[in-house]
Amino acid sequence: MKVRFWGVRGSFAMCGKDFLRHGGNTTSVELVTDGGSRLLIDLGTGATVYAKHLMASEFGRGEGQLPVLLSHTHLDHIQGLPFFTPFFIKGNQIRILGADPAGSSLKGTLQNQLAPHYSPLNGLENLAAGVSIESFLPGAEFAIGDFEITTAALPHGTMWTTGFRIKADGKIVAFLSDVEYPAPHRPTREAFALAAGADLLIHDAMHDDDAYAMARGWGHSPVSAGVHLARAAGAAKLALFHHSPDATDAAIDRLVVTAAARASVPVFAAAEGAYLDV
Ligand SMILES: [Zn+2]
Repeated sequence: MKVRFWGVRGSFAMCGKDFLRHGGNTTSVELVTDGGSRLLIDLGTGATVYAKHLMASEFGRGEGQLPVLLSHTHLDHIQGLPFFTPFFIKGNQIRILGADPAGSSLKGTLQNQLAPHYSPLNGLENLAAGVSIESFLPGAEFAIGDFEITTAALPHGTMWTTGFRIKADGKIVAFLSDVEYPAPHRPTREAFALAAGADLLIHDAMHDDDAYAMARGWGHSPVSAGVHLARAAGAAKLALFHHSPDATDAAIDRLVVTAAARASVPVFAAAEGAYLDV
């Protein structure tokens, strides 16, 4: 299985010379199996770059099929949706799967994003591609193509997000973004289960430990939370993810050094770039 980060930034996109190496786009991560199955997690602004990549393939001819998992519907995770070019090509088939937000439906929430107040698209029904919006309950397990997917609700400020454990090609990727535990060293039972024995743990690392003291309660983790979970759950490798918009390339480099000094496994900062072997 391969993974490619198309967007690694949290909260809002950044641009400028201080953000070039890790990238400024918000969350979007692609997984590809040896057999060619594809899966995208989240439709942040990184998905618009991925869309251009897809348009050079069967998606440009209206023959593409893509499943998309949404962790939750905060703007940084769906802002690429109205600009995802394969939606505009008749014949493409795109499944969007996610949990219903509290008090709403997934379809209704995404439909609101395309309302005329926010977008000239004026509704999901105006997308030329075949688009299905499929809700699941956190805790659901299902298969898509070569991927076996386990989901779980994780605490995210006043709400929750969905974490994923994705198995394919004999490897496991755990995706735990936008999560804040009761304390950084007290991951929830669900988080531990998703990360157990993962070959790659992609974890929220929005804050350095000092900044976290000021940001507690907003639903994100200090770097040490991922470091602790990787060790406790026996993950083989840790990717720091959902970088703060304030985190320049130099600041992220310092986070990695700090994390690596405490970690039991290799640590790196997720960055927009090439396909990585899991
Ligand atoms: Zn986020």
